[in-house]
Amino acid sequence: MNADRPLHSRSSARRPGKRGLVTALGIGAIVLSLVACSSDAAAAKDPVAGASGATSASPKPKQKPKSTPTPTPTAAAFNKAANSVDDPSSIWVVVNKTRSLNPANYAPTDLVYPAVTYVNRQPMRAEVANALVAMFAAGASESQLQFSVQSAYRSFAAQTSVYDQIVDTKGQAQADTTSARPGHSEHQTGLAVDISALPASCSLQTCFANTPQGKWLAANAWKYGFVLRYPADKVAVTGYSFEPWHYRYVGIALSTELHNTGVETLEEFFALPGGTTYH
Ligand SMILES: [Zn+2]
Repeated sequence: MNADRPLHSRSSARRPGKRGLVTALGIGAIVLSLVACSSDAAAAKDPVAGASGATSASPKPKQKPKSTPTPTPTAAAFNKAANSVDDPSSIWVVVNKTRSLNPANYAPTDLVYPAVTYVNRQPMRAEVANALVAMFAAGASESQLQFSVQSAYRSFAAQTSVYDQIVDTKGQAQADTTSARPGHSEHQTGLAVDISALPASCSLQTCFANTPQGKWLAANAWKYGFVLRYPADKVAVTGYSFEPWHYRYVGIALSTELHNTGVETLEEFFALPGGTTYH
């Protein structure tokens, strides 16, 4: 049911820049042709006036100084509706404690295991895998840093088992602070990856932010389509404590827009509800 939708939604996400340029060029071409039309009309009019005036002094129509049409393609406004934020197979899906996946037991259909180092061998969606491989390669070539996948996709069943186990041993309140309820985990989308340093250092701890790998990711992940999903200063918005290891793939168009506008969370960017309590 979801399998037939992601293709066009994703391909349209990838090309807003190109489309904007094409649109801008199209408008430029229209402006150009309008300018051309009006100067043609002026040129056509003048000789007639000259003929009736019978003054042969200046038969040439005066060329109006053409105001240079502006073909400079200004960046088209970002289209926030280019992809769904509700469809669980959309790379822009927003899932949090207020917004559950629908259906709650959603499972991606294109899970793969990229050739990277794993702590827990868990797959991710194909598009995410490609971006992750490129990002890890850049970290290695630019800064001689190595990374591993701590965890990635977790199924509804796996999340249920993890969550229920914590509820059984520590109670629901504690479970809700350390684990997502089934159907509310970003890991169930196949778009989230917990990244660790290799060799391991501060894995799944806030001190990961101070490791070379944590710093490099914070500065560069946006270039590969990833966002730091749970920033330190946005707990009330995202509903989660600072997780400097949790990166969410949203595609380069959106990650670049978030980077350029300085908006840190998907909830704020799309004006969607979030928060720390389940609804
Ligand atoms: Zn995570």
